[in-house]
Amino acid sequence: MSGPQYLTGDKAGIETFIDQFDVFLFDCDGVLWSGDHVFPGTAETIEMLRSKGKQLVFVTNNSTKSRADYKKKFDGVGISCKEDEVFGSSYSAAIYISRILALPPPKNKVYVLGESGIESELASEKVPFCGGTDPSLRRDIQPEDFTKIASGELLDPDVAIVLAGLDFHTSYLKVALGLHYLKRGAKFLATNIDSTLPSAGALFPGAGSTFAPLAKSAGAEPLALGKPSQAMMDAIEGKFKLDRKRTCMVGDRLNTDIQFGIEGGLGGTLAVLTGVSKKEEFLEEGAKVVPSAYVDKLGDLLG
Ligand code: PLP
Ligand code: CA
Repeated sequence: MSGPQYLTGDKAGIETFIDQFDVFLFDCDGVLWSGDHVFPGTAETIEMLRSKGKQLVFVTNNSTKSRADYKKKFDGVGISCKEDEVFGSSYSAAIYISRILALPPPKNKVYVLGESGIESELASEKVPFCGGTDPSLRRDIQPEDFTKIASGELLDPDVAIVLAGLDFHTSYLKVALGLHYLKRGAKFLATNIDSTLPSAGALFPGAGSTFAPLAKSAGAEPLALGKPSQAMMDAIEGKFKLDRKRTCMVGDRLNTDIQFGIEGGLGGTLAVLTGVSKKEEFLEEGAKVVPSAYVDKLGDLLG
C-alpha cells in the first residue's frame, strides 16, 4: 500500500488533489491558527479555495465557543468566514439534542458541565439547561450538600440529559450533581473527547480529561458529538448537502480529524503538521489512522 502523498512543494500534485473536491471541512486550531497566532498563508489559502468555488465548513471541537464567537474570532484574525460555515461541537450537541433526541417538555432539560459556548448553542435551539456557568455552582462542596444531593433536593427534576464539555471550573460538586443525574436515568452526552488541547506551545487537559471523573464514577462513557462522531458528519452532510466522495477533511489530529474523515467515507483527508499529531505517527509501519495526503502547513497549498 502506498503511503500518504506529501504535497508541500509539489505544485502539480496540489492542483490535482484540490481538483478532486468540491467541499473542504477544516479543523480550526492547529490548522488555521494556534491560539492567537495565525499560520502564514492561511487567509490566502482560504481565499484561493473560495476563488475556485469550493464550499468551506469550519469544523471545530472547541465547545467553549459558539458559532457566533467563532465568527468574531475569524473576523479578528482577518480570515473570511460566515457564521453559517462554522460547525462546532457545542452546536453539534445542541442539534442532536433538539432534533434527534427531541425529548418532549418538561422533562427535557440539560445539565451542562462546560462553558458558555454550550449554553449559547442550546439556547439557540431553545433547549432548556442548568449548570454550566451558573455562579452558584462555583464553590466547594459542603458537608450538607451530600445529603441534599442524595435526597434530590439539589437536583432539578426536569433534567433528562447530562452534556459534558471542557469546563474551566470543574469541581467535585459539579461532578457529584452529574453523577446523580446519571443515576436517575439521564442520558450521558459529551461535546468532544479530546484528551488534550494545545495552548501557549504546550498541551493542557481537554474536554475528555475534564469529564473523565464523571465517566469513571458513573462507570459509563458518554456519546460524544464532536469529531470523530459520525452523528456530527451526518448533521454536516444534511446541512450542506455535500457529496462525501467530493469532500476532503483537513486536520491536525489523527484520532479526531483524520479518523472523522476516514470513518465518514470522505473522498480524502489532508493532515497538516502545524498541530498535535506528528508525521511519524502516520508514516510508521502499522499506523492505524493514515491521511490521504499531508503538508507541512496549510499555506503550502498555495504552491
Ligand atoms: N477544545 C477546546 C476547549 C479548545 O480550546 C480547542 C482548541 O482551541 C479544541 C478543543 C480543539 O479545537 P479544533 O477542533 O478546532 O482543533
Ligand atoms: Ca485541531
